[in-house]
Amino acid sequence: RLRFEHIRHGYGGRDVVRDVSLTAFPGRVLCLLGPSGSGKSTLLRIAAGLEVPRGGRLLINDVEVSGPHAFLPPEQRGVGLMFQDFALFPHMTVGANVAFGLTHLSKASRQAAAGEALARVGLAGYEGKYPHMLSGGEQQRVALARAVAPKPSVLLMDEPFSGLDSRLKDQVRADTLSVLRETGATVVIVTHDPEEAMGMADQIALLKDGELVQTGSARDLFLHPGSVFAASFFSEIN
Ligand code: ATP
Ligand code: MG
Repeated sequence: RLRFEHIRHGYGGRDVVRDVSLTAFPGRVLCLLGPSGSGKSTLLRIAAGLEVPRGGRLLINDVEVSGPHAFLPPEQRGVGLMFQDFALFPHMTVGANVAFGLTHLSKASRQAAAGEALARVGLAGYEGKYPHMLSGGEQQRVALARAVAPKPSVLLMDEPFSGLDSRLKDQVRADTLSVLRETGATVVIVTHDPEEAMGMADQIALLKDGELVQTGSARDLFLHPGSVFAASFFSEIN
């Protein structure tokens, strides 16, 4: 479980996250949805521990990891991260990329865990290949395997499908969703695409100028938008 409590953040004199309170639940997908500059990535970076918020508290499984009295660094939060360009290490094999976050294990266990994660995303036997030998969709799956291999309780994904061409996207989203479901993790996906949020989210948090304007199921937001902004944002979907 991931809980934002009155989180505030800004850069210089400007506030870009304003008093956001929000909870994401295990086994469910929360989409942070909003236009460019609405503060989605900033919220995700705060959750990851890559950014120290100016105010509020962040709790992971009821433990304060960011707040007035605590700051837990990223590697101690039990969170998995996946960013939009996948960011695989080009000089490392697929197996080494996936095993990268498993430093606490013995070499044999790391290899076994990496192999297991690759099998989960449908890439069994890809350990010895290099990223440049893979298609975009395969690279995305390797990045997913790397994110889930340490079995994090919280998975944070920033525009994880934006690097893919549109023909691939639907299939990759569906495959990703089924892998995510199996992990039982608390999943937060950032997207600016309302259709993507509708297709993946159990819960959508709609952001505008750093403020949470509405939260609910995809159905709630689509059928009962609470503002002109929400209505116009979803009207792009047909
Ligand atoms: P996008 O959809 O374009 O990725 P976003 O919703 O993820 O947008 P953020 O990246 O969270 O938006 O940025 C929110 C605001 O904060 C933007 O106006 C951005 O310019 C500003 N911002 C983000 N990071 C920094 C930084 N390191 N220094 C200064 N300003 C920043
Ligand atoms: Mg962003």
